[in-house]
Amino acid sequence: MSDWAPAIEAAALAVSRASAVCRAVQARLDDVRSILKDDKSPVTVADFASQAVVAWTLRETMGSCVMVGEEDAHELREQLSAGERTTVDQVVEAARLVWTDATVDDVLDAIDLGNADPRAHGAYWTLDPIDGTKGFLRDQQYAVALGWIEGGLVTLGALGCPNLSLDQSFPVSEKDGRGSLYLATRGGGVREVACDEPDRTGRPIGRSARGTADPVRMCESAEAGHTSHGAAGEVLSRVTGELGTTAGEPARLDSQAKYAVVARGQADLYLRLPRPGKPYVERIWDHAAGSLVASEAGCAVSDASGTALDFGHGAGLERNAGVVVGDPAVHGPAIEAIGSLGAARA
Ligand code: AMP
Ligand code: MG
Repeated sequence: MSDWAPAIEAAALAVSRASAVCRAVQARLDDVRSILKDDKSPVTVADFASQAVVAWTLRETMGSCVMVGEEDAHELREQLSAGERTTVDQVVEAARLVWTDATVDDVLDAIDLGNADPRAHGAYWTLDPIDGTKGFLRDQQYAVALGWIEGGLVTLGALGCPNLSLDQSFPVSEKDGRGSLYLATRGGGVREVACDEPDRTGRPIGRSARGTADPVRMCESAEAGHTSHGAAGEVLSRVTGELGTTAGEPARLDSQAKYAVVARGQADLYLRLPRPGKPYVERIWDHAAGSLVASEAGCAVSDASGTALDFGHGAGLERNAGVVVGDPAVHGPAIEAIGSLGAARA
């Protein structure tokens, strides 16, 4: 793409509409089914509705939508053909909040726009319709994360964090207010707007220089199954020793909201460290939008060994293990500490 304005506007509209759908579903969580996918991660009605709304919005505004999305409509179609309508009907009802005339077929077809094969296209959207589903189910942080990948690089990111307060005095682990949306283009910076704000002018965000004595505030996944909390604690203690400072209160939160929290200067370091004996290939939709938001805000972003994230190998970050995002003055010591602890690989 050469002129980013239409794509960023389309991405912002798509993510803000999907965020509205997610909020509405979250407000009546008890009524909504949580289905267990084969990999045992919880998928809710909102994941499907969010993907449908994003794909539909992009197709309507951009004329087409080539997307690698986390979800597909296979299970929903199977349920329909077995005569089980409950989940499908809930998904369509949720999508109709913003896509008022959507039919069942419209919604299922829109979800399946996310089935593009990343190896068959030079450029495509990637979407996590609800990143941090467990946070969503706990009524805490989650994100609608949309990135544009071109030639193996993320060049546009729209990261909606419907429960992340714009007010940084509010604890990040809690839900508040209108939520925040981050819009980034490669080389064009990143801006923060309210998630439900039709005027998306917002304000540019970026890290300011750290004081050498400032405590290092670390954030990490709430889920012990997604990162090694133990190794992160050891890394943090080495980093503070090296910098001659203390550790601030660490924060545990779900989703790519962690990238936003470091990008806007509310934390200095996000550690996602491989768990010993449990190799895992990160998915592109879990990092595309967030990594661009953070790097455009002036953060250093890499895997756990300091190598740049490589989005050019299909749906997985096959060449990377773990993720480290930080203030540039903290990122280097963190990578060194991870290396000396032997924590860069599973
Ligand atoms: P977070 O909210 O940062 O803990 O990350 C949520 C994402 O972690 C989900 O979207 C999953 O795709 C991803 N995930 C699932 N299993 C693992 C794992 N074993 N290691 C790292 N990430 C995982
Ligand atoms: Mg995810």
